[in-house]
Amino acid sequence: MFSFNPAHFSLIVGPCAVESHDTFSRVARFAKKLGVTALRGGIYKLRTDPQSFQGLGNRAFEIVQMSKDETGLPFICEVTDPRQIEELSRIADAFQVGTRNMHNYELLKELGRSKTPVLLKRGMSAYLDELLLASEYIRKEGNEQIAFCERGIRTFERATRNTLDLSAVPYLKSRSNLPVIVDPSHGTGKRNLVVPMCLAAAAAGADGLLIEVHPEPANSLSDAEQALGFDDFEKMHSKLVQILNVMGKTLEVRPS
Ligand code: PEP
Ligand code: MN
Repeated sequence: MFSFNPAHFSLIVGPCAVESHDTFSRVARFAKKLGVTALRGGIYKLRTDPQSFQGLGNRAFEIVQMSKDETGLPFICEVTDPRQIEELSRIADAFQVGTRNMHNYELLKELGRSKTPVLLKRGMSAYLDELLLASEYIRKEGNEQIAFCERGIRTFERATRNTLDLSAVPYLKSRSNLPVIVDPSHGTGKRNLVVPMCLAAAAAGADGLLIEVHPEPANSLSDAEQALGFDDFEKMHSKLVQILNVMGKTLEVRPS
């Protein structure tokens, strides 16, 4: 049974969306070889443009299950509607609440009634205090397995997709005991900025990272501009281990 473990550093890695058996299994094998905590991948995607790829839906289940069986890694995916909870529980070891749903209190309450851990992302225009209160909706219904995720906010700056607010890490940690995970992929939207911000997040005291990784990043069906390729991820991984050493943390790696 998966749980967020603030005593260790979590590395959650995978494509933006589960696209095919080929891409997902390649990421899963690579991630396992390097050492990560969990796999990620969207199954029902919330896209700004309704014409964009919306995710494979339940056709992704078999693909994900095969990689889970092969690697023994847990799987985290976004839940976009309370009606998906039962179905996604068959495959997901933790649920992600995306930026567009942080204020969806009926979804949060329903997740509070489940036993599955929840990664709660910050709304793109949400105050940190609103994020803290959103977590209370989940906790109040009985689910205490919650982690925050800083994924960038909307500001006047257009050079990056979002402005990654790393001060969220020490602030949230000063206000709550829940782990704080940082997502530099959505936080910057730009591949070349992801690695430095991963390292900065670890140095700021984050309890983990959520990173989009794809075997052929430029060909990703969603968020192609921010996905890391295997080379970049590998370089980041070795530097991260050094920073974690300074921070007195160890990477949580699932045993084989
Ligand atoms: C994602 O993790 O792929 C995602 C859609 O994240 P966010 O809700 O932060 O945009
Ligand atoms: Mn994405």
